[in-house]
Amino acid sequence: MRTARCVCGQLSVDVEGDPSGVYACSCKKCQRGSGSAFSYAGQFKKAALKVSGEHKAYRDTGESGNWTEGHFCPACGATVFSLFQNMPEEAIVSAGCFEDSSFAPPQILFWASRRHEWLKLPDSTQLLDTQPD
Ligand SMILES: [Zn+2]
Ligand SMILES: [Zn+2]
Repeated sequence: MRTARCVCGQLSVDVEGDPSGVYACSCKKCQRGSGSAFSYAGQFKKAALKVSGEHKAYRDTGESGNWTEGHFCPACGATVFSLFQNMPEEAIVSAGCFEDSSFAPPQILFWASRRHEWLKLPDSTQLLDTQPD
């Protein structure tokens, strides 16, 4: 069991088990949304998430026409989990919101073509220049 929390602690998400995938993304939207060089998140079954606290959602429609929805704390603004139109059973939880420095490294970096020049990932991370729909 792991708990992901926002900065102020108002919003938390409990998840059981290990993520089915761990991903990072260097697309411009993830850079803006995180204020950092990339987003980093683990994928879980949506039904396995136990969400406590208030959250608001920001829905963004990508070039593919599918939306992604970032759920954030209305008090501190941290995005704790996200949902995807094309993966209705799945959710991703922001890896940085867990207190777990042994959380798995990303298996894939999406939009590697847009990453910051200095960014080096482990050899085990596959670099994808774009993102599959
Ligand atoms: Zn908060
Ligand atoms: Zn992205």
